[in-house]
Amino acid sequence: MTQSTGVLQSGRIRVLKEGCRTLDRNVGPVVYWMFRDQRVRDNWALIHAVDEANRANVPVAVVFNLFDQFLGAKARQLGFMLRGLQQLHSHLQHNLHIPFFLFQGEATETIPNFIEECGASLLVSDFSPLREVKCWKEEICKRVSDSVSIHEVDAHNVVPLWVASAKLEYSAKTIRGKINKLLPEYMIDFPKLGPPIKKWAATNHVVDWENLITAVTRKGAEVPELEWCEPGENAAMEVLMGSRNGFLTKRLKSYSMDRNNPLKPKALSGLSPYLHFGQISAQRCAAEARKVRTLCPQAVDAFLEELIVRRELADNFCFYQPHYDSLKGAWEWARKTLMDHASDKREHIYTRGQLEKAQTADPLWNASQLEMVHYGKMHGFMRMYWAKKILEWTSGPEEALAISIYLNDKYEIDGRDPNGYVGCMWSICGVHDQGWRERQVFGKIRYMNYAGCKRKFDVDGYIAYVKRQVGEIKKRKAETLFNKNEKELCI
Ligand SMILES: Cc1cc2nc3c(=O)[nH]c(=O)nc-3n(C[C@H](O)[C@H](O)[C@H](O)COP(=O)(O)OP(=O)(O)OC[C@H]3O[C@@H](n4cnc5c(N)ncnc54)[C@H](O)[C@@H]3O)c2cc1C
Repeated sequence: MTQSTGVLQSGRIRVLKEGCRTLDRNVGPVVYWMFRDQRVRDNWALIHAVDEANRANVPVAVVFNLFDQFLGAKARQLGFMLRGLQQLHSHLQHNLHIPFFLFQGEATETIPNFIEECGASLLVSDFSPLREVKCWKEEICKRVSDSVSIHEVDAHNVVPLWVASAKLEYSAKTIRGKINKLLPEYMIDFPKLGPPIKKWAATNHVVDWENLITAVTRKGAEVPELEWCEPGENAAMEVLMGSRNGFLTKRLKSYSMDRNNPLKPKALSGLSPYLHFGQISAQRCAAEARKVRTLCPQAVDAFLEELIVRRELADNFCFYQPHYDSLKGAWEWARKTLMDHASDKREHIYTRGQLEKAQTADPLWNASQLEMVHYGKMHGFMRMYWAKKILEWTSGPEEALAISIYLNDKYEIDGRDPNGYVGCMWSICGVHDQGWRERQVFGKIRYMNYAGCKRKFDVDGYIAYVKRQVGEIKKRKAETLFNKNEKELCI
């Protein structure tokens, strides 16, 4: 049983740096550097920051650093994120009276500079297992003064990653029991968050959101924003349990029956964009799903397996495996079998450019690629087929992995996520999977083919559905452009 510090279990917090108290220095404010958990509601990192501030009777601020470049994010991902942050800024300011500061540049400079400027004693950060984030934090620990403490709070996983397991887990089977055992301890109610006791003295930092969003989306226009996916915490809650078309309120039943049918994308929750940007808490999703379990136990159990076990397994892999996005990160058996078959003759070899433009001889694969490029979210079942075919059609597993990650991160609204790296590693390198009957190119890696898809769902129906969808998106875009040009001519 973990101890509770304030309102959080101590297991949820890791002390990255213990500040040394000096008598000549007063206790300064608390700063929460928000990165992965971009929400006000149900956010353990924000709750911890406010709690620490109240206990020390000091003010608290939230800061966000916008990098000039983060893992190739384009207008699609950055627009969604910034529009969500714009709403968060207003929510923090008006309902909680907590100031929000937005910085641009390198976090390793902006965050220590701000800590120094405001004389903060405690920096709270949320948690991400990705190597870039780990490196920034190590650097920030070195750059802030000795008196500053740094806490990391796992606000993303239901069971904090380091509590669930202290090692790299082999598969869902090896982590499931560990997580399930700890759920009663960590699935607790979120406390109500009120305005902090002590107010931040300085005036509120102004962010010119409109100009910022225009500039960022113009720069990343190669991959445009999505119309169908509304950003922000309210939109996320609507997708989870809204009265119009909420997953738990209206669509839950089909999850157990139709979630592997790419022709029925609404059978899936559609929560991945919100979970990726932290606009909704996985713990909130799990708690609400449990409340309706009696209505549809099979669907809820399957959803919780994906939402908790599979998602937290992906974080475990990226945290404990430094080579989480390369062949070096595969298990020994998988590396061997892939290398044994690296020089097998391939029926087709495509370049990255041909794949990106969906110019293959397989209409099913092309449809899934176009779904991702234009709609911005490929169906979960197709993602497996899509990545496995890239292994089949490129010169070797390392190249296949690099191309799949490049395309996934560039076009998926939920890309650049541990789930994405693990999804590609599972499909191409057998991570968290087992060995299967040996065959050409794949070796013992699980194989998927067109005929198998044909047996599972209406392949022609899916191809026609994507064609229609892409046609409509292109038509709407042309209309928007036409209206914009008309308006400009009238001015
Ligand atoms: C090659 C490949 C690439 C992928 N890329 C990404 C990615 O970039 N970002 C991403 O979030 N997911 C990725 N996935 C995992 C999965 O396909 C998506 O999470 C899912 O399709 C998202 O849709 P949903 O939220 O409607 O799914 P639901 O089935 O409703 O799932 C609910 C949530 O559970 C989690 N989840 C579901 N399936 C998985 C899984 N297999 N592994 C880990 N967590 C899971 C996600 O957080 C998801 O949002 C990838 C899978 C593969 C095989």
